[in-house]
Amino acid sequence: MSKLDGKVAVVTGASKGIGAAIAKALAKDGAAVVVNYASSKAGADAVVGAITEAGGRAIAVQGDVSKAAQAQRLIESAVHQFGRLDVLVNNSGIYEFAAIEEVTEEHYRRLFDVNVLGVLLATQAAAKHLGEGGSIINISSAITHVHTPTAAAYAGTKGALNAISGVLANELAPRRIRVNVVSPGFVVTEGTHSAGVVGSDMEAGLVAQTPLGRAGQPDDIAGVVAFLASDDARWLTGEEITASGGIR
Ligand code: NAP
Repeated sequence: MSKLDGKVAVVTGASKGIGAAIAKALAKDGAAVVVNYASSKAGADAVVGAITEAGGRAIAVQGDVSKAAQAQRLIESAVHQFGRLDVLVNNSGIYEFAAIEEVTEEHYRRLFDVNVLGVLLATQAAAKHLGEGGSIINISSAITHVHTPTAAAYAGTKGALNAISGVLANELAPRRIRVNVVSPGFVVTEGTHSAGVVGSDMEAGLVAQTPLGRAGQPDDIAGVVAFLASDDARWLTGEEITASGGIR
């Protein structure tokens, strides 16, 4: 019997990067998985294909988590397709870096809409269906500890997410729903490639400060999330695990 047999999980932003690795790891441990995407249908379909070829169960569902109706539809699709909901991984996120002189209202709103409002809306929809033993895992960032220059707005979204997670851990504890945070350090993904971080001085600086001496990979994060989703983590709530090769 695998650790997540019989469980149903929604992973937001699972068409690529860390979310794709999380979706595959949860499915490998036995969960049926809803692979959410915003625009990358081909990526989400590829993740579903990899899961089903390995004998798992998954569907791809489009939805912008920063829109209430779409977040709700995403969660309802899990219940409709698989009959229940046990795990929500709030992984969808965007990052843009800007020196303080270059921060605009649009930059701030884009980041906070997806990284903060998106988590609130998906969690609100999921809370209606999660029961005893439910697990919510929020993907934050080690940047709240590392304080990388040009990340003021992005780090602000993740600091807000950490605070929200602590509140919800207490708020949902009477229903025996756990809420925990995983904070990756720098991870090589499609997103960090297109943001220009991979190969940059920022990457070199982050790796140089990382005690384990390399950049992170999506699978380095996925196993930690699978642990938090499982009953092995039944006594953990309100925790933050910094999955960063030791940089903090
Ligand atoms: P990524 O490769 O850019 O992938 C981002 C995912 O989020 C994609 O699946 C994307 O979907 C989805 N997404 C974006 N906006 C969305 C929206 N409005 N609604 C639903 N989904 C949306 O990112 P990543 O590097 O894997 O990062 C994943 C998470 O880890 C983020 O929360 C990020 O802040 C956090 N993190 C990353 C790093 C790192 O170094 N990579 C470090 C610390 C924390 P589409 O492709 O379909 O648009």
